[in-house]
Amino acid sequence: MRNIDKIYIEGQFVTPKGAEMADLHNPSTEEKIGTVRLAGVEDAQEAIAAAKRAFPAFSRTSKAERIDMLQRLNAAVAARVSDLTEAMALEYGAPQTFTRFAIPHAASSFLTMASVLEDYEFERQMGQARVVMQPSGVAAAITPWNSNIGFITSKLATAIAAGSTIVIKPSEMSAIQTQILTECLHDAGLPKGVFNIINGYGNVVGAELSRHPDIAKVTFTGSTAVGREILRNAADTFKRVTLELGGKGPNIILDDADLDVVIAGVLRMGFINSGQACIAGTRILVPNHRLDDVLVRLKKEIETFKVGAPSDPDAMIGPMVSRKQYDRVQSYIELGTQEGARLLTGGPGRPAGLDRGWFTKPTIFFGVDNQMRIAREEIFGPVLSVIAYGDEDEALSIANDTPYGLQAYLHGTDAARMQRLADRLDSGRVVINGAPHEPLAPFGGFKQSGIGREYGVFGLDAFMEPKAIIA
Ligand code: NAD
Repeated sequence: MRNIDKIYIEGQFVTPKGAEMADLHNPSTEEKIGTVRLAGVEDAQEAIAAAKRAFPAFSRTSKAERIDMLQRLNAAVAARVSDLTEAMALEYGAPQTFTRFAIPHAASSFLTMASVLEDYEFERQMGQARVVMQPSGVAAAITPWNSNIGFITSKLATAIAAGSTIVIKPSEMSAIQTQILTECLHDAGLPKGVFNIINGYGNVVGAELSRHPDIAKVTFTGSTAVGREILRNAADTFKRVTLELGGKGPNIILDDADLDVVIAGVLRMGFINSGQACIAGTRILVPNHRLDDVLVRLKKEIETFKVGAPSDPDAMIGPMVSRKQYDRVQSYIELGTQEGARLLTGGPGRPAGLDRGWFTKPTIFFGVDNQMRIAREEIFGPVLSVIAYGDEDEALSIANDTPYGLQAYLHGTDAARMQRLADRLDSGRVVINGAPHEPLAPFGGFKQSGIGREYGVFGLDAFMEPKAIIA
């Protein structure tokens, strides 16, 4: 049993004044594995005050000093990759296929941001004006449970590069991972108060961070519903707000795609992070005349996607994070059948042989109409919809007919054509033929997938205010 009873304020692990406790679970076994003592409003205010005290000196640090800090943060996180991986497996149930990428990526986000900072122009001449990029002030980060470590490191890296101090509120369901990560970050020896990390409920600590007048900027990753609430709370004080929200990514198989090559990639994009991923390609768009062939191949390929606990190195799909999330995914599987979609594979209940743990059968519906709720709403589990289309224009129109616009996928053989199609997709990112993640490129969504962009120069700009000095 792990009992997490500290939060991190002004360079110290302190006991929160809030006394509320929450249970932590292992989603692969459903067992209780610990408790977390949650911060309250007063703790949030103390963390904000600490970040505010640290801001004047930190915002004046040089590029070289910040690059040095980012390098130290990278080294401190990289030193404990195995502890962080173990915690993510225990508390979140992430399969090794995901943690093998996610944890080293989290550590390297500091170095990626250091390289962005190296080339970043804090002063630019524009006509007669000297334009100075100034950090907007104390930032708050609010993050979800589905990649807790990576979201904290990427937001922290950007704040450090900008010269902003920050208060971070991770998901209360990720407290064990947060504790180990905070120990790493502490070891990097940054000035006190530059970053502060507090566990707490969203409607208590998250709401205070979104409202507090001393917070200038909120960077949030999570659901669209909570993003809306944060935007409302932030409006009174006109905070700068970056929102990374939900998705319902189109995963488009073009008529010239080599099915021997693309089917595995289509499913990998759909089931990424056990389907608990905003970037998952959950709507598989298939040309009418290739539908039968694609369905046969999807059904065959899905057998290679083993469901299991992270201790199984072959498992590609882990459990849902919580009972609540398991029930939500199950309810969408039932809804799909009620709406008239047909089950290609999967369905309600647990996979055979797994009678404990919040495991869901990887499920594919076909005969799906893009107006069905299973095609419009984010399910956040391994449930995919196959939608047939006639021609290229219809594929694009179905792909763009969604409230979301975060990440889209194209699979085909004609590179020039795919570039042309990508230009017509309303999506923050378009990934062609399973290309790897590009951490320097902007990340974020059109429409209800969010506001603003993270990563690279765009991410850094979002922490700054341009100031024009005209002489
Ligand atoms: P969530 O929105 O329920 O919670 C996210 C965070 O917000 C948590 O820390 C939570 O405590 C906090 N929160 C809750 N209510 C709040 C409030 N009223 N004010 C301020 N903060 C509040 O999301 P989740 O269930 O943790 O994560 C799943 C969601 O995150 C999915 O919808 C998914 O699409 C989204 N997500 C988006 C991205 C992206 O980059 N676009 C990445 C991962 C996950």
